[in-house]
Amino acid sequence: MSQNDITPQRPAKEDYKRIATEEAFAPPDLFDMYRKVLADGKADAGFTSLWAFYLSSDAARPQHIRKYIQDLDTARLAHMDEAGIDIQVLSLTSPGVQVFDADTAVSYARTANDYLAEAVRRHPTRFVGLAAVAPQNPAEAAKEIERGATQLGMKGIIVNSHTQGEYLSDPKFWDIFAAAEAFDMPIYLHPSTPPPKMIEPFMEAGLDGAIYGFGVDTGLSALRIITAGVFDRFPKLQLVLGHMGEALPYMAYRLDYMHRATVAANRYESMKPLKKRPSDYLRENFYVTNSGVAWEQAIRFAQEFMGVDRVMYAMDYPYQHVLDEVITLDNMNMATHDKKAFFQTNAERVFKIG
Ligand code: CA
Repeated sequence: MSQNDITPQRPAKEDYKRIATEEAFAPPDLFDMYRKVLADGKADAGFTSLWAFYLSSDAARPQHIRKYIQDLDTARLAHMDEAGIDIQVLSLTSPGVQVFDADTAVSYARTANDYLAEAVRRHPTRFVGLAAVAPQNPAEAAKEIERGATQLGMKGIIVNSHTQGEYLSDPKFWDIFAAAEAFDMPIYLHPSTPPPKMIEPFMEAGLDGAIYGFGVDTGLSALRIITAGVFDRFPKLQLVLGHMGEALPYMAYRLDYMHRATVAANRYESMKPLKKRPSDYLRENFYVTNSGVAWEQAIRFAQEFMGVDRVMYAMDYPYQHVLDEVITLDNMNMATHDKKAFFQTNAERVFKIG
């Protein structure tokens, strides 16, 4: 499978808009800040593995990413037109501000959100923004969610899995969920590399990044949110998971069985009874996107499990910028209504577009 070859073939105009929901950008100074974190030796092994590679590798794919991730105008719009993407839902690239100290994270989240809001104002029919927040300071994160919703026109929130080894399942972060629920802002729980306690065996095998470590850590992050009882406390809260739900839909039966058995055995203090089964929360409090997975079988399974209204399209530009994948997805053997829900109407509803 090609990673970043742009084929000359262009997707045909279809009877739906294509809204890509997990598309990355980086403000011009972010890479310098990441270089400084790397130079200071302050980053964890995962960040160092990921960003030392993307910031310096001469391979074609990292070069393509470096060249285009900062563009929020001509080049990006040309790529969108070429691929038939009508709208990108944009978010600050992983791990966003979550690698910084708390004060830097709070202030840079504001800076990045202002920068993104300005790009959305320049191209209001092509871009939709998700607000970055700093979980390092949950009260400030909650304020930034309010500012994003009420002043910047943001349509959701981006959080990258853990924050320096701490997961949102810890109640100290729950101001973020309270604000997201209050302002009706979905949280896109995007991957980052596994934290230090987890990453060593992944790194030994080269599996710490998007190939596998991202999904394992982010699936864990989502599952911890479920088992901690977050959705019993915030029943209207909605999360979005990329990469076909980080494999959780596929595991739902076993999650339900073993959660029930573990709670019944009173095995862990941390695993309390929930009002519903883990699979119920997956179906009622999560959306999934197919970012990085242009694979009809997986998409159809997710639609069957979650419901057609809970599965959305994402390209993962510029990390996985492959025109052939758009054509593959256009050609899915799927009822027109369901395909339109996948590409267009679910995203319009979830992110209040149009
Ligand atoms: Ca991504």
